[in-house]
Amino acid sequence: RRREKQARDKLDRATVEQVLDPKTRMILFKLLSRNRLRTLEGCVSTGKEANVYFATAASDPSASTDISGSLPPMPGLLPHEFSPDAPVAVKVFKTSILQFKDRERYVAGEFRFRRTGYQRGSNRKMVQQWAEKEFRNQVRLQEAGIPAPIPLLLKPPVLIMSFFGKDGWPAPRLKDASLSPTRLRKVYFRVCMIMRRMFRVAHLVHGDLSEYNMLYWKGEVIVIDVSQSVEDDHPMALDFLRRDCANVNEFFRRNGLNSVLSVRELFDFVTGEHIGELREEEENALGYLIQSAGNRDSQSMLLFRRDDEVFMKSYIPRTLQEVELREEQFRGKEYEHVESRLFSKLTGLTLTQRRDHSSGKSVSKSLVRKNRSKQTETEG
Ligand code: ADP
Ligand code: MG
Repeated sequence: RRREKQARDKLDRATVEQVLDPKTRMILFKLLSRNRLRTLEGCVSTGKEANVYFATAASDPSASTDISGSLPPMPGLLPHEFSPDAPVAVKVFKTSILQFKDRERYVAGEFRFRRTGYQRGSNRKMVQQWAEKEFRNQVRLQEAGIPAPIPLLLKPPVLIMSFFGKDGWPAPRLKDASLSPTRLRKVYFRVCMIMRRMFRVAHLVHGDLSEYNMLYWKGEVIVIDVSQSVEDDHPMALDFLRRDCANVNEFFRRNGLNSVLSVRELFDFVTGEHIGELREEEENALGYLIQSAGNRDSQSMLLFRRDDEVFMKSYIPRTLQEVELREEQFRGKEYEHVESRLFSKLTGLTLTQRRDHSSGKSVSKSLVRKNRSKQTETEG
C-alpha cells in the first residue's frame, strides 16, 4: 500500500507538467511500484515526439527487459553497470500526436516491419513501433561498438536506457557544448567515424543526425534519438544519409571549422568500400581527407561547394543495374564530370566491380547482401 502511494506521488511530481495517457501512466506507475525504478525525477526534455525523464534504477532494469517476445536478446549489455541507483533516461513516446504519421516513409521500406506492416490505423500501435525501433537500433549500435545509450528496458511506449550526464543533468548536446577550435576538429573527426561505422558495421542510417541528436560527454560523441534510423537497404537510406552528411557539415562549418569535407566527400567516406574495414585504415583515410580539406584555397573551396550543389540534387542510384541504366542514357553525350563520378563511386561500387558485372561475373558484397534480403522479402 505505502509503496503504491509513494509510487503515485513520485509519478505525479515528475509528470505534473506533461499530459500522459492513462496506459502510459500505468506503465510508469508499475515500474515505480514494482521497484524497477527507485525514482522518477525531472523531465529533461519535452520534444514533439517524446518526453525524456531522468530516473534512477532500483534494480538492474535490463534483468526484466520486456521485449514483447519477438525481439532478439541483447548481447553486449553490461548489467553490472546498472547497480541500484544507476542513472537512467526514461523516454516516453507521445501517443497522441500526428507526427508519427509523417514518419511512415521511414518504416515503409523496412524489412523488419514487413511482416506486421505499418499499423497506420492506431496511434498507439504506431508509437509502439517507434519505441521498439529505437530499442532495436540501440541494440545494433551497441553490437557495433558505437557510443550510444545502452537500451535497458522496453515497455512501449516507454523505453529505458543508460543516462549520460551528471547529477541528473544531461550531457550537453553538440549544439550546446562550447568547443574550442581544437576540440571542434576532434569532434568532427569522431562524428565522421561514427557515421561510417553506423553505416558499414551497424548497417543503419541515422536519418535525423544533427547537433541536436548527439551528446558531448567526457570528450566523446554519443549518438541518440535513433527511432527513425533505417536499414542501409531502405529505399531512401542513401537520401537520408546525404541529408545527414549535409546537416553535420553545416553545423561544423557554422561553428568555424575550416577543414569540413564536402558533402560528397563525407558521403563517399561513409559508404566507400575501398577504404578498408579496420578502424586504423578508416582513421587514416579520414585524417587525410580532413587535412586536405583544411588546405584548400578559396578557389577550390568554391569548386567543392558547386560540386555539392549538384550532388545534393542528383539522383542516387542504388544498384549496379541502375548505375548502368543511367550511363546508358548518357552514352555518346557530353555529360558533367560530377555526374560521371557520381555513378562510379556511389554506394561503394568501384570501377572494377562495375567492369566485372558487365562481363557477367562478380558483384560487390554489399549488393549480394542486399539482393539476398530482397529475395527473402518477396518470399516471406
Ligand atoms: P526527441 O525525439 O524528443 O528529440 P531525443 O531522444 O532526442 O528525443 O531526446 C531528447 C533530449 O533528451 C536529448 O536532446 C537529450 O538532451 C536528452 N536525452 C535523451 N536521451 C538521453 C540519455 N540517454 N542521456 C542523457 N540525456 C538524454
Ligand atoms: Mg532528438
